[in-house]
Amino acid sequence: MLRAKYLNKITEVNKMFIEKIIENGDVVVDATMGNGYDTIYLANLVGETGKVYAFDVQEEAIKSTTKKVQRDGFTDFVSLILDGHQNMDKYINEEVACVMFNLGYLPRAKHHIITKPDTTLEAIEKALKLLKPNGVISIAMYTGHEGGMEERNYVCDFLNNLDQNYYNVLHTNFTNQVNNPPELILVEKKGDFNSLDKYI
Ligand code: SAH
Repeated sequence: MLRAKYLNKITEVNKMFIEKIIENGDVVVDATMGNGYDTIYLANLVGETGKVYAFDVQEEAIKSTTKKVQRDGFTDFVSLILDGHQNMDKYINEEVACVMFNLGYLPRAKHHIITKPDTTLEAIEKALKLLKPNGVISIAMYTGHEGGMEERNYVCDFLNNLDQNYYNVLHTNFTNQVNNPPELILVEKKGDFNSLDKYI
């Protein structure tokens, strides 16, 4: 089977954007830690002068990510939080450069523990609020599992209606793939308007 090099997986496409955006020393959030691959990826990008907050509701996620964080010597600047991303504002009291979401379920883990429309949207709203000017949210979305399409539509309905004076929203998808290909959304906050309390 032929294999693409650049446009193979939506998470790899995401990294092409992310690597242009995140800088050494940035504060960033992994909203869906899972096995921690993205947490480690982000930690490498921001380095020890930066900070990574990572969230998951599964104890197993914390356990396996803790191992990776210790292995790589990142414990001083990576915080692993056993709580839903919809509560991120309870743990983060500073502006962030990037919040990454990888929705759906964790492959090879408990498939019934999936992200849900209501809490996902609550987390996205809080993430928008926490973003620094020109900060970015990335959201990888999967529609093949039960509830996935509903979650995707719910997220899109909200983001498609964000005021373009305040945010730019980019939606990328594999238009020629069969079987529910994953999709990626990026949102950039265009300036410093938190004082207006205008984030949606
Ligand atoms: N980025 C991960 C994959 C994430 S899969 C990796 O690189 O391995 C989605 C994850 O979201 C699952 O681990 C699931 O437990 C978690 N999750 C589900 N609901 C959540 C919530 N409300 N807050 C935070 N994480 C949640």
